[in-house]
Amino acid sequence: MNHNEKEEFDKKHIWHPYTSMLQPLPCYQVNSADGVYINLDTGERLIDGMSSWWCAIHGYNNKEINEAVVEQVLKVSHIMFGGITHDPAINLCKLLVDMTHKDLECVFLCDSGSVSVEVALKQAIQYWEAKGESNRKKFLTIGHGYHGDTFGAMSVCDPVNSMHTLYKGYVPENIFADPPQIGYRDEWDESDTSSFESKIEENKDKLAAVIIEPVLQGAGGMRMYHPMYLKRVRELCDKHNILLVLDEVATGFGRTGKLFAYEHANIRPDIMCVGKAISGGYLTLAAVISTRQVSETISSGKSGCFMHGPTFMGNPLACAASVRNLEMLQTGKWREQVAAIENQLLKELLPLKGENNSRIKDVRVLGAIGVIELTKPVNMGGCQKMFVDLGVWVRPFGKLIYIMPPYIIKQDELSKLIGSIIKVAKEGPIKDDVY
Ligand SMILES: *Cc1c(COP(=O)(O)O)cnc(C)c1O
Repeated sequence: MNHNEKEEFDKKHIWHPYTSMLQPLPCYQVNSADGVYINLDTGERLIDGMSSWWCAIHGYNNKEINEAVVEQVLKVSHIMFGGITHDPAINLCKLLVDMTHKDLECVFLCDSGSVSVEVALKQAIQYWEAKGESNRKKFLTIGHGYHGDTFGAMSVCDPVNSMHTLYKGYVPENIFADPPQIGYRDEWDESDTSSFESKIEENKDKLAAVIIEPVLQGAGGMRMYHPMYLKRVRELCDKHNILLVLDEVATGFGRTGKLFAYEHANIRPDIMCVGKAISGGYLTLAAVISTRQVSETISSGKSGCFMHGPTFMGNPLACAASVRNLEMLQTGKWREQVAAIENQLLKELLPLKGENNSRIKDVRVLGAIGVIELTKPVNMGGCQKMFVDLGVWVRPFGKLIYIMPPYIIKQDELSKLIGSIIKVAKEGPIKDDVY
């Protein structure tokens, strides 16, 4: 097939994330990627601003991760995890136990972020079942959250963003507190947690757990909230004896400037989900890490075990890629890289906030993440084309134009990315524009 035939086939036969089979926008054909560059089959070379949705923290076609995967292919690519274990899984779980809070000790490996959220929710329910409190089947979360696209995960996503009305009667109904209003860099105000406080008190006997994204709410709005909010959530969970699940699928592994975002508030979760960047963007993998107390309580219940076991659990290739990726993180180089990206975003992007442009509602920076929130939604196809013409890969959604580049990006490459998002924010077509 030639370029156009492939484009037509794709439009006609292949679903892409959140797309229509009636009016699909054309997709850009990628031949390869290396470092922070994505190579299109039309010959264009784009600077990547997305890390393929938080994942490719050490860049594409990374020599070390390539080697780790190739070495593992030659040994065994997949083997069942029931009754069998292997070095890639053991080495990965050792790294996860070492890198996370000392109380997080027991690791459950699974396929994707959404599945890790399902696993965490099931662990919380089985925990209370084992303690003889099987009435605890509800979860408390906050508005604007995003936890994945499977039904359990969706049930704790923002009800408007994830269209709960479409699936009403099927999606479990959970409890939502108002999202935090005080930004990461704003002055803290205790009233921010009042909605959360009353919801937890009203529902304390029904709650299995609280689940939230720490400090940064990703796909539900790219909102960065005050670490004190998270600290108060931990205190309220302790006060009412409710488990705290932190979804670090997006924030984990250095993205916010700390290895895990809970470190901003000096707390720890009882159960934590990680995914996305875990394998450096190579293979699909996620993990749920819980305290020994949670894990042993679950295991003391009626079933005597935790009731979950994916076919591809502990996939050796994915584990091998992850081990090498996390070993690279362990050198600590990411700290300087992320700090340098944050400094540059503060200097080159944040000042846009003061410009008083009627198209721009807010500008936010945290770690290696820069966000422009517009007053109106963008015309996705039009803005996407503008970015490609500018030589960068940025994928806006709704009113948000944002970047989270690979940590290895260089100063001049980041300047180009920042310049491009500012230009598109100011001049790019918005939703009702004809483009
Ligand atoms: C992306 C994401 C998920 C879902 O992960 P998938 O791998 O897409 O299933 C869950 N939680 C958060 C916070 C995420 O950003």
